[in-house]
Formats: sequence, C-alpha cells, structure tokens
Amino acid sequence: MIKTDVLIIGGGPAGSSCARVLKQAGMKCIVLDKSAFPRFKPCAGWITPQVLKWAEVDASNYPHGLTEFTSFDVSIGAIKIKLPTHQYAIRRFEFDHWLLQRADPEFHVHEVRNILVENGEYVVDGIYSARFLVGAGGTHCPVRRTFFNESSPNMQGSLIVAQEEEFQYDLKDTRCKLWFFENKLPGYAWYVPKKGGYVNVGLGGFADSLKRSGDTLKNHWNLLVKKLEESGLITAHVYKPAGHSYILRRRSPRVRSGNAFLAGDSLGLATLDMGEGIGPAIRSGQLAAEAILSGADYSLASIPRYSFPSLLGFRKGG
Ligand SMILES: Cc1cc2nc3c(=O)[nH]c(=O)nc-3n(C[C@H](O)[C@H](O)[C@H](O)COP(=O)(O)OP(=O)(O)OC[C@H]3O[C@@H](n4cnc5c(N)ncnc54)[C@H](O)[C@@H]3O)c2cc1C
Repeated sequence: MIKTDVLIIGGGPAGSSCARVLKQAGMKCIVLDKSAFPRFKPCAGWITPQVLKWAEVDASNYPHGLTEFTSFDVSIGAIKIKLPTHQYAIRRFEFDHWLLQRADPEFHVHEVRNILVENGEYVVDGIYSARFLVGAGGTHCPVRRTFFNESSPNMQGSLIVAQEEEFQYDLKDTRCKLWFFENKLPGYAWYVPKKGGYVNVGLGGFADSLKRSGDTLKNHWNLLVKKLEESGLITAHVYKPAGHSYILRRRSPRVRSGNAFLAGDSLGLATLDMGEGIGPAIRSGQLAAEAILSGADYSLASIPRYSFPSLLGFRKGG
C-alpha cells in the first residue's frame, strides 16, 4: 500500500492548486490523474486578471501563450456592442501542465475506480491510502460519486453541455467574439483567438433547456460552423469538435464529507453568467488545502458566483 497524508484525485487546476499549497506547507500528498500531462481538456481557456492573481501567475513571466484582450465583440440578437474589458486567454494544454509542474507534487497516472474507507483512511483501488482525500476529478469525479451522491439530483438544472475545438489557423480577425442566445441557444458561442496562431471556437448552453425545446447542441454547432464560414472568420476547416459537460455554481453545495473534500468542477463552481470554472477551480483547490492544514472550515464564500462584474472591470482582482 502506498501511504500519504492527502490523496488528490485529478491534476487539473483544482488538483494542482491544492497540491501546491499542501506541498509548500510540508504536507505529503499524491496527485492521481487518469491522463499523463500535458493532456487535452476541452475549454476556451479564457481567464480574468483575478484568476492570474489567485494562481500567482505574473502575466509578463508566464512561459506559454497568453493572449490579452482589451475588448470583446458581443452580439445579442441584432444588438452588437464592443465591450471594453481586460481579459486573457491561455491554452489549457499548456496552462494545466505548467501549473502541475510548478506545484511539483508526487504524481501518478492512475484512473481511480474504487474508493473505500478502512480504519479511518481512504483506500483507493487497494493501492493508495491517506487520511485526507480531495476530489478534483472534474464533472465525473469518483470522489463525488462515492461520498457526495445525495447532492446529485439538484445538479440537473445547472448542467451545461458544451462543444469546442482549438486549432491552428491563419487568422484574419484577432478580435474575441461572443454570440449570446443565437438561434435560441440557451447559452452563448465564442471565437477566441490565441497566441501562436491558435483559435478556439465553441458553444455551450443549459442541457435542460435544450432538451425541453427538442433542440440539440449538434444542431447549434452546425449553425456556428456555417456562420464562421459565411462571415469569412474560418473557412475550409474540417472540424473535429470535442464535447464536455459541467455544472454551474449552486446554492450551498456540500463541500466536505468527513475528511473528503471536493474542489473545482467536481463541486460545480463555474460562474452563473459565463460558465467560467478555471478560477473557481484554482481558488477552491487552495481553500480545500488550507482547510486540511488548519482544520478550519472550508468555505466558498470568497469565490464570486458571477463573471460579469469582473468582465466589466468592476472588480479588479481584490
Ligand atoms: C467547452 C468548454 C469551455 C470552457 N471554457 C471556459 C473558459 O473559457 N474559462 C473558464 O474559466 N472555464 C471554462 N470552462 C470550464 C473549465 O474548463 C472547468 O471549470 C475547469 O477545467 C475545472 O477544473 P478542474 O480542475 O476542476 O477539472 P478538470 O480540469 O476537468 O481536471 C480534472 C482532472 O481529473 C482527471 N480525472 C477525471 N476522472 C478521473 C479518475 N477517475 N481518476 C483519475 N483522474 C481523473 C482528469 O483527467 C482531469 O485531468 C469550459 C468548459 C468547457 C467544457
């Protein structure tokens, strides 16, 4: 049996941020992830200055592609506005790997299937054991499935389904574009140019609303591709989109069960307006680590529920 103090399931932003705080305090931890890093993660990779601040990333020293935006082209039906803002975009393939390397925890590629409690310790797949367990395994995290199942029913209305693709493209237009509620999509679509000649296009919306209206995300994806083609933003590209689902922030989710903690998407923390989850994942991972270290409450109160105030510059990353 491999023993440690804290087992962290998932090496994404939530897991690596948790590991970093624990390691800096001298606590032993192991991060288990089913994928070797760098790994692919479907995500537009759009982040606010607050996210960089939480992650303690200096924009001028970040060694990979970091795109800075000072405005967005926003369309809501026939209304088109240029929204002044201060935002960034990273590539998750690079960013998540860099965060994990910087945290430098003991890392094992291992897909977690079974978790038991034996003599007050969490035992994972009969191989690993620890007194504390952090579920940072994203939407389908095995820690949530095993110890937090009773909170699942109220997740349905908060479930977002999304589809995206990131690829290299000779961009003619390097402005970030957002289309809200187009063709009755219960969400929005995006075109996010990135450093190194990459672009991320995608869309997401409430799963429940789509189902109720008899519509599908695939239909909206096809409409988006047509729009990109017709507008000349992206032409003659053969798409291979990836889909994923995640949960928006709910009221008072259960964050802890015994010595098992949830962080990031396993808890469902993406903002209620824009569905941004990278920042909440980083901050919740840190807060879970601090609660383990201090024995204090693990509270999400300091993590904003909405993105818009910071998009509009009302919250400058305090
Ligand atoms: C299409 C799309 C676009 C998005 N765009 C944005 C955006 O622009 N900005 C933003 O802020 N947020 C965005 N989000 C949300 C954001 O991607 C997530 O909120 C964020 O990745 C959460 O981080 P996490 O660390 O909790 O989970 P993840 O990044 O999903 O990491 C979880 C890790 O757990 C591992 N894992 C899963 N199961 C197991 C298992 N059984 N055993 C071992 N390891 C396991 C996975 O391999 C993965 O590495 C988007 C999401 C989608 C789907």
